Amino acid sequence: MAKSLVRWFALVTVMCYWGLAATDVSAQENMPPVYYHVDATGNQSVEQLLDKEPSFWSVLNNGSPSFGYTSATYWFHFKLPAVDYDRVIRIGYPLLDNVDVYFVTDNEIIKRVRLGDAYEFDQRPVDNRNFVVPVASRDRVEVFLRVNTTSSMRVPLSVWQPTDLMGAEQALTTATGMYFGLLLCMIVYNLFSYSVTRDRRFGYYSAYIVGIGLLLAGLDGTGYRYLWPWSEWLQSKAIPLFGSVVFLFASLVASQVLQTKLRSPKLHMGLQGIMIAAVVLFLASIFLPYEWMISIVLPVAILASCYLIFTGLTLWRQGLAYARIYSLALSVLLLAIIINAIGYLGFLESFFIQRYMIMIGSAIEIMLLSLVLAIRFNEDRKERLAAEQRLNSRLEVKVKQRTKELEALMRKLKEMNQRLEVKSSEDRLTKLFNRGVLDDDLPLEVRRARRTGYDIAVVMIDIDHFKKVNDKFGHPVGDEVLVELARLLRVNFRRAGDRIYRYGGEEFVILMPGAQELGCHDKVLTVTDVIRGHTFHTERGAVNITVSVGMALLNSLPGHASSKQLLEAADNALYQAKNAGRDQIRIARSVKDVSEKP
Ligand code: GH3
Ligand code: MG
Ligand code: MG
Repeated sequence: MAKSLVRWFALVTVMCYWGLAATDVSAQENMPPVYYHVDATGNQSVEQLLDKEPSFWSVLNNGSPSFGYTSATYWFHFKLPAVDYDRVIRIGYPLLDNVDVYFVTDNEIIKRVRLGDAYEFDQRPVDNRNFVVPVASRDRVEVFLRVNTTSSMRVPLSVWQPTDLMGAEQALTTATGMYFGLLLCMIVYNLFSYSVTRDRRFGYYSAYIVGIGLLLAGLDGTGYRYLWPWSEWLQSKAIPLFGSVVFLFASLVASQVLQTKLRSPKLHMGLQGIMIAAVVLFLASIFLPYEWMISIVLPVAILASCYLIFTGLTLWRQGLAYARIYSLALSVLLLAIIINAIGYLGFLESFFIQRYMIMIGSAIEIMLLSLVLAIRFNEDRKERLAAEQRLNSRLEVKVKQRTKELEALMRKLKEMNQRLEVKSSEDRLTKLFNRGVLDDDLPLEVRRARRTGYDIAVVMIDIDHFKKVNDKFGHPVGDEVLVELARLLRVNFRRAGDRIYRYGGEEFVILMPGAQELGCHDKVLTVTDVIRGHTFHTERGAVNITVSVGMALLNSLPGHASSKQLLEAADNALYQAKNAGRDQIRIARSVKDVSEKP
């Protein structure tokens, strides 16, 4: 990864350098010696300078003079020989405010041209982002330039044949176009990324590239030519304004990409400091003059770049792998800015390096940062995925656990329900079905009997003179007898479908579905015999009992007797058995009997 990165980085650097170097192919004429004079007051006129002695002028050793920031007016002077073709003079620094060009022959001004940022772009004699002036004559001519500017006093002079200049400019324009094309692609790409992912980092990063683009467009004159030709004001403020924008978003991108808030709150505070400074500088640039602002913005830019690199390096040392690429990217840009700033302050002469360093540096930086952003985004995605998986597996375990608990609970509930059902349907003492169950069962059985055509018998049994048993032996013995009688009934009524209920105190009801009258009567007779012959062994001695029985059979009753009438008929028959002297069986013959009961 590191190796391929270095290779890639080297390739981009070489390509940028080669691309831009190609544009500097010098097709210019041999530049005659240039002289200059500093007019501290700015009051001198060209007429006053026309007949000055050569000693009045200082010799400029280099065709690309750079005097740094100064409020003085500078005069430049050189002589052009006679030729038989047209010529143009180019001043290759587009930020100069006022440039007056005088063409003089035989101490007479033959032409005066006003140039500079302070005038609208449309007024320029040649449409070029630098200052280009046609030479007024093919004859021998002297040229005087009066320059006065709030920007850096840099006046790179060259004389060209127009066609040569066009050729050179074309290559340069292509390179510049490529650079801004790259920026535009990156802006669009990152804005798309932002709109798709809604990840703020992409948004900040596109704003950052917009800032870099505007700054560079301001620096090399492209902005004034194409973007804001109507605004001398903006041209004069472009560098501090857009420079502040760049540092605002550079800090935002750094804080987001390197996650400084999380990883190093102290470094994060520094970044916030830069952001605040950037906003303050931006606002100040609107109101304060350029020459003040530039002397603040440049040192701040260098300091801020150093701080950003320091942040990257610190986090890299803390183990954040991609912070390395980040630091590399910013270092390239910082180097470019430093070299450029030194150039602006007048300490560096190589104009080419000054001019294109930031372009090359920022192009490399922007591409590298975009790589960092992609890595960062991918890592976030992986982290989110891992977290999701962790959460899912934890959730799965929890769900399994809960399901188990729920199943156990359901089982318990079912058991309890069953027990409860038994409890609610059971008579406590005898463990027979209780009266409630009879109330539910009887209508069902009657309906079933009607449907199938089979008969159903209701047999009601009541112990004779049971009070006496209680009185004689006590209630507990009475209970024992009841339990034993229940057992006898259970043993004797065991045909499938027979059900035995404790109807009241010592009254029992047996439902015999599918029974026929004769068979039923015989069965009951047998049971009453069994009971009569059975000795109930209790703790207080032997007890003997007899029972009276009332029977009712559905089919033996006239009409459509209801379940209620069927039960009442049996009850009534029992009553008759009691009345007839007890210890006998009676079969109900009518439902009417119900009303006969007192
Ligand atoms: P008969 O039915 O022959 O007319 O006389 P009886 O003495 O049985 O009179 P009845 O049926 O009216 O009285 C029922 C008695 O049964 C009243 C009560 O003392 C007794 N008894 C009812 N339930 C229980 C019980 O759960 N345990 C005991 N030990 N006795 C009960
Ligand atoms: Mg009774
Ligand atoms: Mg009784």
